[in-house]
Amino acid sequence: MTVLESFSLNGKVAVVTGASRGIGRALAQALGEAGAAVAVTARTLEPAQRAADELRAAGITALPVGLEVTDPAQVDLMVRRVTDELGPIDVLVNNAGISIGSPALETPDEVWREVLATNLDGVWYCSKAVGAQMVERGGGAIVNVGSMSGMIVNRPRWQPPYLASKAAVHQLTKALAAEWAPHGVRVNAIAPGYILTEASPVDRPEYREWCVEPAAMKRYGLPEELGGAVVFLASGASSFMTGAVMVIDGGYTLF
Ligand code: NDP
Repeated sequence: MTVLESFSLNGKVAVVTGASRGIGRALAQALGEAGAAVAVTARTLEPAQRAADELRAAGITALPVGLEVTDPAQVDLMVRRVTDELGPIDVLVNNAGISIGSPALETPDEVWREVLATNLDGVWYCSKAVGAQMVERGGGAIVNVGSMSGMIVNRPRWQPPYLASKAAVHQLTKALAAEWAPHGVRVNAIAPGYILTEASPVDRPEYREWCVEPAAMKRYGLPEELGGAVVFLASGASSFMTGAVMVIDGGYTLF
């Protein structure tokens, strides 16, 4: 097999949570372009359906699934549905996430719980449900979308629950990687810096000072700039890699 062939996901089945827009949408497209059939999930069916239709128009096999990642019963249903319609899951990308920002003393406990439930519990439920299948089959790759905010305190928005959730995702990545390596299941994460999405409008002038200037590359990233790394981590091209957190931040955390 050539090195280029090792990046292929032909014949593989991938699930991307939170794929209706932004980073998840771009990752679903990248995995599809690499050859995978992709289940695209969002909290409700309609946005997932829209994303799936766009991917299909680009020649990608795409299955829309409504999935609230904080609900383990829905996660189990999603795994059953994808397995029935596309086949056993080879790749799981835990992307669904929310970022709500306010200083600690102004952050209600409900916000803490909502952020942790989505960003951490969601990764836990999906990894457990899909991981069980992967361990049984003796192979698979999980890619978690962490954040540079799991490594540094980024400004100007104070976001204690978000930072805590992403640091926990990085450590959960390592814990599952260690446990499932003997079963042929690899678990890695990406830690993006500032990426332009609906949730992160970093093209606004007021964000320039803190989100753009401190990065060595002096710019923010685009969702599609994460696709290559995720295809790499999902494919045989990274066959000796597990438990890694790959920083993709335009050099933001260098300083
Ligand atoms: P968006 O808000 O643009 O997209 C979030 C996606 O997650 C949507 O598809 C949304 O689906 C889905 N989602 C949200 N909550 C839930 C839930 N409870 N259950 C299921 N799906 C849910 O965010 P981004 O694309 O910016 O972020 C995607 C991921 O990347 C997040 O984990 C984020 O923390 C991470 N990240 C983002 C960075 C950035 O700068 N943008 C930097 C570093 C990390 P819908 O609303 O349609 O149901």
